[in-house]
Amino acid sequence: MNTTDLNFDNRFVRELPGDGETGPRRREVLGAAWSSVMPTPVAAPRLLAYSPEVAAKLGLDVHTQGFVEVFGGNALYAGMQPWAANYGGHQFGHWAGQLGDGRAISLGELRVGGERWELQLKGAGPTPYSRGADGRAVLRSSIREFVCSEAMHHLGIPTTRALSLVATGDAVVRDMFYDGHPQAEPGAVVCRVAPSFIRFGSFELPASRGDQALLRQLVDFCIARDYPQLAGSGEALYTEWFAQVCTRTAVMVAHWMRVGFVHGVMNTDNMSILGLSLDYGPYGWVENYDPDWTPNITDAQGRRYRFGAQVQVAYWNLVRLAQALSPLFADVAPLQAGLDAFADTQAAEERAHLVAKLGLGEFREGDAELMTRFQQLLQDGEMDMTLAFRALASLDLVQPQVATLEAAFYSPAGRERVVPALTQWLQRYAARVQASGQTPQQRQAIMQAANPKYVLRNWLAQQAIDRAEQGDPAGITDLLDVMRHPYDEQPGREAFAAKRPEWARERAGCSMLSCSS
Ligand code: AMP
Ligand code: MG
Repeated sequence: MNTTDLNFDNRFVRELPGDGETGPRRREVLGAAWSSVMPTPVAAPRLLAYSPEVAAKLGLDVHTQGFVEVFGGNALYAGMQPWAANYGGHQFGHWAGQLGDGRAISLGELRVGGERWELQLKGAGPTPYSRGADGRAVLRSSIREFVCSEAMHHLGIPTTRALSLVATGDAVVRDMFYDGHPQAEPGAVVCRVAPSFIRFGSFELPASRGDQALLRQLVDFCIARDYPQLAGSGEALYTEWFAQVCTRTAVMVAHWMRVGFVHGVMNTDNMSILGLSLDYGPYGWVENYDPDWTPNITDAQGRRYRFGAQVQVAYWNLVRLAQALSPLFADVAPLQAGLDAFADTQAAEERAHLVAKLGLGEFREGDAELMTRFQQLLQDGEMDMTLAFRALASLDLVQPQVATLEAAFYSPAGRERVVPALTQWLQRYAARVQASGQTPQQRQAIMQAANPKYVLRNWLAQQAIDRAEQGDPAGITDLLDVMRHPYDEQPGREAFAAKRPEWARERAGCSMLSCSS
């Protein structure tokens, strides 16, 4: 397609008030939802990887010089109108004031096939919201964001997508461990794609400033653009909308728990109003099952965003959103109803995932305890969550054996600790499954669709990063290819389904990650 035929309508900047000043001078921006700012050109943009599905959806040909220039930040297609969004947020439990897109620049909203996709560069240079920082992103964190966005999509989890990963040819200086040893690293730009990048913090900021006019405008805009299926008006419409936000957030976080995903930075500025997984920074996948685990070293002390706390944190974040929206409601009851919808939906989703993950057919009394007990055994036995659940599907129900789960153990000591109790549990589980009246084929199909074989383990990402930093980006595409079919058996690719190797246990990038890199 000729890029001049691309249909950008950029409603965000056409319908919401913008900042009077343009350019990246750092500043407080009052009374405006966005600031006009151009990507800063880069030295030598080079396409390292792209998502074939997203490129096809958008109708973009990635194999052109024009594509690389646009998605590296050196050029624009006709109709693009770059901006950085203004928002605030609660970070680690504290109100942080204005944050905004400090290193993200949206290029435009593309209309294609009745859908709307906002194209947003991450790492494209400074904006008014960059505060002390450079607006850039390093290659390693860009690879992680690029692959994870797509991996989550293929896992069936609501998420922002990623179109492209472009190396900039410029160096970016980062102090990876905040320990006074900054290093020059290769820079990159990811193009993220979503129907909307509006965050809880987008509403919190005008609310915190008492700017009710902007708050209401944003809500009306978000409903009209991002929730067009909602009808009605006034408070009834707001009520319905908030309930939808709560429900979608519940669905998203229940999926995270299903696959062992830990977001790592669930600040309210990273919570999507569409319930999409957003902002892939120091995320990780639970390997040896541990509800207290977080990959984020910035959060290692308080572990606020640990795996097992994500449901409660999502709720806490929704309460912050409800507070921000409260000036638009005469009474808090409708907001409370939305929060209750979160709890109800979350419980229902968790149950549905439990039934599918264990292959139980339907939820019965005692099943929640059956699951809790299994999780406890996984933890006590130091067992890999993904491998253990996946292996359960092939358990011999007549003679259940711990050996079926052998590959999931990280240590002989862990195995030793749980073998008797696990044997008992497997017997109880086998009896429960046999009473479910499903054929083995039905059960296995359901379990394999709920328990991925391949997840984006940090050390897998790190191997692709190491190769790319040595100049070979092929590992990124290999990894993405595997993650495009996470529930399938992929003969010859078992190495991507292995448990964490010993070398990765304490290695940076594998066991610990920092926030803003
Ligand atoms: P994050 O932890 O990536 O969600 O970022 C939190 C806030 O810091 C957001 O407002 C980001 O835009 C901003 N930020 C993070 N890294 C950078 C950077 N390198 N340059 C400018 N702003 C940044
Ligand atoms: Mg963020």
